[in-house]
Amino acid sequence: MPSRSALFSQRSLILTLLMLLACGFLATSLLSYFASRSAIRDGIVNTELPLTSDTVYSEIQKDLIRPVLIASMMAQDTFLRDWVLAGEQDPQRVTRFLGEVMGKQDTFTSFFVSDRSLTYYQAKGVLKHVEAGTWRDAWYFRLRALKAPYEINVDLDMANHDSLTVFINYKVLDYQQRFIGATGVGLSVDAVVKLIDTYQRRYQRSVFFTDAKGKVLLSGSDGGPHGLRAGQPLRDNPGLDELLEQGPVPAEGSHEYTDSEGHSHFLNVRHLPELDWYLLVDKRETGALDRVRHSLYLNLAICAMITLVVLSLLHAMLRRHQASIEALATLDSLTGLPNRRSFDLLAAQALQEAQRDCAPLVALLIDLDHFKALNDTHGHLAGDEVLRQFANVLQGSLRQSDILCRWGGEEFIVLLREIEGRQALDVAEKIRRRTEQLTFSYDEQPLRLTTSIGLSGLQPGDTLHALLTRADRALYRAKQAGRNRVCSETPGLVYE
Ligand code: GH3
Ligand code: MG
Ligand code: MG
Repeated sequence: MPSRSALFSQRSLILTLLMLLACGFLATSLLSYFASRSAIRDGIVNTELPLTSDTVYSEIQKDLIRPVLIASMMAQDTFLRDWVLAGEQDPQRVTRFLGEVMGKQDTFTSFFVSDRSLTYYQAKGVLKHVEAGTWRDAWYFRLRALKAPYEINVDLDMANHDSLTVFINYKVLDYQQRFIGATGVGLSVDAVVKLIDTYQRRYQRSVFFTDAKGKVLLSGSDGGPHGLRAGQPLRDNPGLDELLEQGPVPAEGSHEYTDSEGHSHFLNVRHLPELDWYLLVDKRETGALDRVRHSLYLNLAICAMITLVVLSLLHAMLRRHQASIEALATLDSLTGLPNRRSFDLLAAQALQEAQRDCAPLVALLIDLDHFKALNDTHGHLAGDEVLRQFANVLQGSLRQSDILCRWGGEEFIVLLREIEGRQALDVAEKIRRRTEQLTFSYDEQPLRLTTSIGLSGLQPGDTLHALLTRADRALYRAKQAGRNRVCSETPGLVYE
């Protein structure tokens, strides 16, 4: 059995190795995980989102900023101003002008509202008269009161979601800078919405616009992130609360936030000064980092398997090593029989069992005769070989349950279990006779040998020492009596 300290050091060796491997594998896996994670984050924050933002911005410039310039040119057109100042004679002239703008500039609609007559002209003719107090015409009176030269008004009251219309309403001033009306164009932002939809589908990101008050103006056809739709304020999205602490729109630049479902998002915000709008590009993190996380799990699983295999191999090796060390400690190296140390353990146990069960136990002390002479005549190696062969003779003469060990030198000891007086003497006699009859050999030389055996049976209350002392005395008598014989010192059984 392995000693406690050996077991302890074995366990602590395995534990130390486990810690080393676990820490090493964990550190390298986590390091590479965090490195790839931050590379992906950097890619999203510094490249992907700004690039999307740039592309959408240039698209919106094409779609929205150009019409602002057209409306500005219309507002400064001397024909229009002169026609108004001359009393709006011959409305066909202005409707032709509006039709020309619409056709040439490819806008959805074009219009002029005169402040003097409150007439609403468009390319097809006079549409109506604007009236203060009606919600449909509120834009006109708002524009009139406005300090800025124009406003962009996204028509939110759309019957059809896919055809948002954006009006650019420009103030028309006379040559003394007095307000004389409003002109401008209306256009469909289908192209922008389609672009947003493409981005959302292809790159799993949301693109949307808000005004300076944080109200969503434009989004993809499915709405902004978390379903925010045109007309809703950003504050309706609870995930953005933290980013909206400073104002109705998050500060320009890149942000990270976690939505109400626990997903983390990257958000890029950009101000469009021409429109005073904000362009927001939002990307959910999971899609991009899932693969890295999966490879981390795979990595860890492989590392755990390697650790397990290495540790089990080490454990098996240690056990084998331990077993061979133990065998060395308990077995005699010449004959392979148990040595005196293991005999003490085996004998103590056998004695205890015999005493508990009141079972017989007989000790045989066996000594080869004139062995010194054999050594002297044929050499020490011959002596060794004879000892090995004699051990085989002993093993062949005993049962599996008997205990046999090399006591030292050319002496052996046997404990016969469950066997009494006469039978024990027969076993001893068998050993003596076989030894006497056998021709041992070394280097093809025949060698003859005899043995003397002292025998003693266990008595009630005996110690191992007492039992062996009697067997020793019996052996002494056997030697004294001329060797090659069995002597017994069991009270009541004398055999010589
Ligand atoms: P006796 O009949 O009285 O027992 O005489 P003996 O010569 O056998 O006894 P003695 O005690 O005088 O000598 C024992 C010899 O056994 C001496 C020693 O060199 C030899 N011997 C002890 N161990 C070994 C061993 O491992 N190998 C060999 N070759 N010889 C051994
Ligand atoms: Mg001896
Ligand atoms: Mg001897």
